[in-house]
Amino acid sequence: MRCVYLVNGKIVIKDVEIPKLEDGDILIKVKYALTDGTDLKTYLRGHHIIKDGPFGHEYSGIVVESRSEKFKVGDEVFGLNSAYCGNCKYCKESRENLCISLKFLFGAYAEYLKIPKEIVNKNVFIKPKEISFKVAPIIEPLSCVFNGIEKLNLKGNENILILGSGSIAIMFFLALSENHNVKIHSRSKDRLKLIKDKLLYEQIEKSFMKEYKDFDYSIVIDTTASFDLVNEILKNPRRGSKILLFSGMESEKFLTFEQSYFHYNEIDIITSFHHKPTSTKKAYEYLRRNHMILENIITTEVELSDIEKAFFLMKERKALKVAISVL
Ligand SMILES: [Zn+2]
Repeated sequence: MRCVYLVNGKIVIKDVEIPKLEDGDILIKVKYALTDGTDLKTYLRGHHIIKDGPFGHEYSGIVVESRSEKFKVGDEVFGLNSAYCGNCKYCKESRENLCISLKFLFGAYAEYLKIPKEIVNKNVFIKPKEISFKVAPIIEPLSCVFNGIEKLNLKGNENILILGSGSIAIMFFLALSENHNVKIHSRSKDRLKLIKDKLLYEQIEKSFMKEYKDFDYSIVIDTTASFDLVNEILKNPRRGSKILLFSGMESEKFLTFEQSYFHYNEIDIITSFHHKPTSTKKAYEYLRRNHMILENIITTEVELSDIEKAFFLMKERKALKVAISVL
């Protein structure tokens, strides 16, 4: 079978054996895998969790072999690419995203994907018929987005500023604009054009701000991991605001802020990483209700053999999310 590997920052398509299963595992024929910002970052500059090896982590497909009681051959499934242990101190504090033995799965850019039993048991789901194979893998980044939203502890009717205009920013926008006044700060003309060209445009175009200084926000969500932009925000945040650092920067980036300003104005810096069962549940329900609009975030589709093109388009900001189809 064909399987995409990342080797020293290069994408290599290898012909490898279909993996053998152990008790509790399933094997799926991949229908779609989606690219995301994390994969792009990994491709461009490496990642502290994702190492060289099988690449891709957002998937949907059909079960072709099962050694699990939970799924049978022919089941249409989608899911997440990690599982928490449920027993460590973090899991017991309901912080499963910080689990000390979080088990990850990579290799979604492939014809077949073996999903190990830990993930099968916790984070693989039957795909509802109305949700397409193409959009279903979005459950993974959407779960991360809902983890960020959970941590903000929103009361409703807040003014929210989102930094960035990639797929994560758009997901935050869609999920939050139902109950809040949300603006997107981006200076990328290409992204704005891309969003205009897709049906996302009517709702979102009005919300774009080239400059954010006059917006009376109470919440800032960073999806850019831009050191300069985040430092700029930290210089003079609005009194009483919360700043969510959603996207991870490279190691050894030290942000600075003035302690007394933050103290007397009660500025909160919040972080969020990955997802946990409560956020996945919310993402699942949101996906069921909004899969049509979420599908618009997938701006391009390429076949597995053309995967390099997907990353080129992402890098050039000509695609938000690319669906890698497996024929
Ligand atoms: Zn754990």
